[in-house]
Amino acid sequence: MIEKKVVLSGIRATGSLHLGNYLGAMKYFVKLSKDEKNSCYFFIANLHTLTTRINPDDILRDLKEIVLTYISIGIDPESSVIFAQSSVPETSELNWLLACLTSVAELEKMPHFKEKKDMKEILHETVNVGLLTYPVLMAADILGPLANKVPVGEDQHPHVELARDLARRFNALYGETFPVPELLEGEAIRVPGLDGKGKMGKSNQNTIDLMDSPEEVLKKIGKAVTDTARVRKSDAGNPLNCGLYTLHQLLSSDGELMEVYAGCTSAQMGCVDCKKILVENINQLLAPIQVKRFELNEKGSKYALEVLHEGGKRARKKIVATVENVKEKMGVPLY
Ligand code: ATP
Ligand code: MG
Repeated sequence: MIEKKVVLSGIRATGSLHLGNYLGAMKYFVKLSKDEKNSCYFFIANLHTLTTRINPDDILRDLKEIVLTYISIGIDPESSVIFAQSSVPETSELNWLLACLTSVAELEKMPHFKEKKDMKEILHETVNVGLLTYPVLMAADILGPLANKVPVGEDQHPHVELARDLARRFNALYGETFPVPELLEGEAIRVPGLDGKGKMGKSNQNTIDLMDSPEEVLKKIGKAVTDTARVRKSDAGNPLNCGLYTLHQLLSSDGELMEVYAGCTSAQMGCVDCKKILVENINQLLAPIQVKRFELNEKGSKYALEVLHEGGKRARKKIVATVENVKEKMGVPLY
């Protein structure tokens, strides 16, 4: 029997899921989960959520919504394991064990930490320790189930690199234990925000949400920032300075791409027409996901919790075995 490859990825319970989450990560969850050679674990990173959000009701609401969205995009909760990070306390134990192999300097240089730290300082909020150690917990998430593949968006790549380093470091010190996890093959995906500033993000209010109605999509894309140097339609635009062109590259056909590129750079097509094509393609992508999500309304949050309960048991079984082995190797077993 061929040994299956373990796929693992997660999403924080910090708000409504958006196109960036889908195009950067979730789309690949579905693809990888349909391959029988993979054994997939998809979780909700509700412990990571605590670094930036603390309202328990909001966390619970978003946790359940993410479960239902995972299922709506086509993940089968029978063949894949859907679970909450908080259902596996042993991951937090592994977090400690790995933290003792990680230097403070490695964590301080992470782009994610620097960005969040700057933001907190501007808002005069506390820079909590969790923001610094976020990537160690993420390494524990990855190494706990012995993941081989980690489909995540570009913003998370430095964190997966740390998990890879920690796997190698642990193996060198204590003997072969962890596979070195791989990123998605091909290009790293970063979906820009509609405000033209940085990436689309749940916490940034610059998103097209997966549950946005066609009218909302139209309104949001209508207001979205394009190439700021193009003031009038008669000015030639530069698609490479336009976040919406990146969305076109991810969603539109080759013919449409050529049409908008040529139209924009020759000033033959204005932003309004370019946006119209994009709106149509976004709505086409979202419609079947929304239909499926609507069907799940009947089963609702009770179903989401059942899925988490079953998934939690399955994930825990796998992860407990790793953590016991790691503790044994590090000389700190359960006596
Ligand atoms: P938050 O702003 O609260 O951190 P988020 O939108 O960044 O939320 P996460 O839960 O942190 O979402 O990330 C979930 C997955 O989605 C990760 O794999 C991440 O890399 C991916 N992702 C998030 N935003 C984007 C984006 N704009 N482009 C591509 N991938 C993204
Ligand atoms: Mg994020």
